[in-house]
Amino acid sequence: MEDIQALLEKKGVRPSLHRMKILDYLVTLRNHPTADMIYNDISPDIPTLSKTTVYNTLKLFAECGVVQAITIEDNEVRYDATMEIHAHFKCTLCGGIHDIPVREGVLSIKSAQGHKIIESQLNCKGICRDCLKK
Ligand SMILES: [Zn+2]
Ligand SMILES: [Zn+2]
Repeated sequence: MEDIQALLEKKGVRPSLHRMKILDYLVTLRNHPTADMIYNDISPDIPTLSKTTVYNTLKLFAECGVVQAITIEDNEVRYDATMEIHAHFKCTLCGGIHDIPVREGVLSIKSAQGHKIIESQLNCKGICRDCLKK
């Protein structure tokens, strides 16, 4: 938990108990959860935690660069504590989202055509290792 506190302080976020629990979950599991998944998993241990707090905390984390928000599906935001550039792979059978390393420069674009790019994501879909074995 000490690393979690340091990580938040480095990004200028006050490390409250709720914030530390949410970031600890993201950093430990690295499972690209939705806000609801986080709430359902950790709220039994933290009775004072509300769904609104989880949503607001994730929004703050994304704004402060603690986590990144990823949208592989239009109707679903997921959160990722891995900030290095990487691609995502979503399994169409089990719905699991996995990190895919990218070679440096793969996500770089030849020309932005005068537009200012603020973020870019590379998402792949397919059948994951585990599902292929079944
Ligand atoms: Zn799968
Ligand atoms: Zn990721």
